[in-house]
Amino acid sequence: MSTDDLLPRNHTRSIRVGTTTLGGGHPIVVQSMCATSTRDVKTTAGQAQQLSDAGAGIVRLAVDSKKDAEAANEIAHLVDANICVDLQENWRLARILAPNVAKIRYNPGHLHHHEPSVCWQDKVKRIASWASDSDTALRVGINCGSVDPAKVGSWPPGDSVSPMVASALEHAEFLDSIGFDRYVVSLKDSDPDLVIAANRQFAAERPDVPLHLGVTEAGLPPDGVIKTRVAFEQLLSQGIGDTIRVSLTLPNQLKYQEVDTGHQILKDIAAGRVRSVVQYQRSGPNIISCPSCSRVENEAFVDLAQDVKRLSEQYSTHDITIAVMGCRVNGPGETDDADLGLWCAPSFVNLKKGSESLGSFPYDEILEKLQQEIESLIQNRGSVS
Ligand code: SF4
Repeated sequence: MSTDDLLPRNHTRSIRVGTTTLGGGHPIVVQSMCATSTRDVKTTAGQAQQLSDAGAGIVRLAVDSKKDAEAANEIAHLVDANICVDLQENWRLARILAPNVAKIRYNPGHLHHHEPSVCWQDKVKRIASWASDSDTALRVGINCGSVDPAKVGSWPPGDSVSPMVASALEHAEFLDSIGFDRYVVSLKDSDPDLVIAANRQFAAERPDVPLHLGVTEAGLPPDGVIKTRVAFEQLLSQGIGDTIRVSLTLPNQLKYQEVDTGHQILKDIAAGRVRSVVQYQRSGPNIISCPSCSRVENEAFVDLAQDVKRLSEQYSTHDITIAVMGCRVNGPGETDDADLGLWCAPSFVNLKKGSESLGSFPYDEILEKLQQEIESLIQNRGSVS
């Protein structure tokens, strides 16, 4: 009996993505994302093939510019992998990508950046029509750090789940209304509890829509694996989820471990090796770090994330959240909710306290500055432990 026979599954639609199929009772697909520069065709094709060989049913590439899109198209023809591209703000790139790739992910929260005079419905209609003409699937990818600003203001500031779910439901309904049903949805946050809440709420409203599960910026192993495992256990054991990604901060040569970990988590849940009754332990430092992708601005990012984790270990009795992000695309927004946030630029690191900027510092000075800020935070909190 296979892993999938042992897991309950929601009756979702079948969505073909290249040579694989998501939903409709098909085996849960483990996917991953390249962290190399998309424009470096040779290296990225090598990593995409490595991830595919490790068992990734879909491999994602980040695409921010026409040059990236041209490289992604070339890579899609060089490798066996089913390539999904991740559009950032430039939604029009979908036109040249759709004929070459198996799936396109768009983020509803980024559609307003380019051509603000064009409404999001028109943009989605265009993306869906290019996808439809090219036999390509879509993912509506909602991310906690970049939720559609039109949705955020409608709920109290402490409620981050409702705007995410509302945005996902709105896009699902709109795609259905224009006759495009070849899409999956994802609702990601770096907090596993919020991932569980958002996906449960969406699945309760739209049990027919296949879901891509992930805890974004889960961080370094083993903590990042634990956060992801907790979320996946509670969702997959209820039949929620058709494809998964484990987002881990790993050096490029070890990126395949995301895929291995995904398969292992699926096997463990199917075999009942779960810790669902155990709440994710929140005391002590919580290091959030992005899994890195082609947008990383300095290769020192993974070392920096590891150094921050080591530094935090001496503050084990203090509840401090530190976010470490690889680039300016998501770094500024996705560090806002952390006590202290770092995001990488090519030759310096930006440091933040909540949403307030504390300046930028060279790579060889940032840890010292971070430590000062941790200590000042602890001192200001008094004897919190
Ligand atoms: S923060 Fe930047 S580098 Fe990290 S995964 Fe997100 S887009 Fe990529």
